[in-house]
Amino acid sequence: MWIPYYVSDDVKSLDSLITLTKEAMENKRKIPIHLFHEVKSVDFEKREVLIRDIKSSNNLIENYDYLVITTGGKSNTTKISNDADLDHPRVFKVHTLGHAKRLKDFLTTTKINSAVIIGGGYIGLEMLEAYEAHGVKNLTLTGPRLNFRSESQEFIQKELEMHGVKIILKKRVKTIRSVSDEKLKVILADGEEIETDLVQLSIGVVPATDLFKNTKLEMLDNGAIIIDEFCRTNIENVYSAGDCAAIYHKLLKKNVYLPLAPAANKLGRLSGSHIAGKKVDSFTGIVGTSIFKVFDLYCAQTGLSEQDAKDMGFNVQTTLITNNELAHYYPGVKKMSILLRFDAESHLLLGAEITAPSPLGAKKIDVLATVLNAKMTIDEIQQLDLSYAPPFAPTWDPILIAANVARKKCK
Ligand SMILES: Cc1cc2nc3c(=O)[nH]c(=O)nc-3n(C[C@H](O)[C@H](O)[C@H](O)COP(=O)(O)OP(=O)(O)OC[C@H]3O[C@@H](n4cnc5c(N)ncnc54)[C@H](O)[C@@H]3O)c2cc1C
Repeated sequence: MWIPYYVSDDVKSLDSLITLTKEAMENKRKIPIHLFHEVKSVDFEKREVLIRDIKSSNNLIENYDYLVITTGGKSNTTKISNDADLDHPRVFKVHTLGHAKRLKDFLTTTKINSAVIIGGGYIGLEMLEAYEAHGVKNLTLTGPRLNFRSESQEFIQKELEMHGVKIILKKRVKTIRSVSDEKLKVILADGEEIETDLVQLSIGVVPATDLFKNTKLEMLDNGAIIIDEFCRTNIENVYSAGDCAAIYHKLLKKNVYLPLAPAANKLGRLSGSHIAGKKVDSFTGIVGTSIFKVFDLYCAQTGLSEQDAKDMGFNVQTTLITNNELAHYYPGVKKMSILLRFDAESHLLLGAEITAPSPLGAKKIDVLATVLNAKMTIDEIQQLDLSYAPPFAPTWDPILIAANVARKKCK
């Protein structure tokens, strides 16, 4: 997503990020758009939507034949105590255009020395680069782990250390206190206090579905709307897609909450086509693939975590290799890592994690996501005809090397 790169000023303007304008939607696609209108409630029996015009404060009611709920997600703040000073002007969330603009405007106009990033997920990690670009010297990142759920996170740790980031893992943030208009204190569960000029909250995303809480709409415990393979909810003529909805994980064989853009886009398109009566293929699910950048390290993962795989009864083995990303003699070549997680009995690939010095290495995750989708084994990975030329990869692609090492651990 664009927020880290907009805040860092790699992306200059917010306008360049907008794919479809209101005018294009209305003139080209003949779809009326009501910006600054908020849906307050839905009466599924009467097929009525109560909408508030934010500018005039007027309410209006719209009827529908079909309803598609795509309210997205919102920043999770529930993990911080209720009495935290979250309204302090130097506490920032990073979820919307508005959040991004507020943070960039602040960093551009105010010189600060320190920031605490709460959350070691991909958003927290990606944002560090933006603070560095604004000259923030003392960066602290706190979270349960550094996104990966394995020893691969050590590569991220090294990258953060190289950029002088202080890392505090496995300590819960208890609360955030205002010290003055310019200073805050982050207080950890063990009593440690960190004084800082700015706090970023990036402790996860939850579905923005509060308005459906007391309705018959079926949701997961966290409020993610449950949909079928054509995005239909349990209520007739009501569809949902994107970050407000659960998604079927084809390896876990259940609905999960994994709010990412590729599936949101696919399902937005699928739901519209299905409502329009077009012949569409059902959505078969995700395998849990994501990719992110931490300063100069490109990271990616797919598939099951070790715990999930064990819970499913697999005899889980892992292999972690480091290897040249390109031919060993090619100028600028550096090391990348691949972790393969697999079942020692059936040899099935279960998951993978990659860190690399360039996007070339990290995007190899798509090969492994395809392997997962096709339910291929380590032996079949060994047979893959992967491309080679010095600027792109070594003769033995690191995926093949990892598979060769993994094969020795299979029964
Ligand atoms: C910082 C950040 C970085 C990310 N980076 C990546 C990435 O690199 N790769 C990736 O795959 N995914 C990434 N994502 C996730 C990705 O952005 C989302 O999966 C995607 O935008 C979801 O689209 P959506 O349409 O479901 O939700 P949204 O884009 O959130 O849209 C929901 C819309 O509904 C509106 N809305 C909500 N409630 C109401 C209401 N009651 N009435 C009217 N309107 C309402 C909201 O205002 C919003 O405009 C990132 C997310 C964040 C926050």
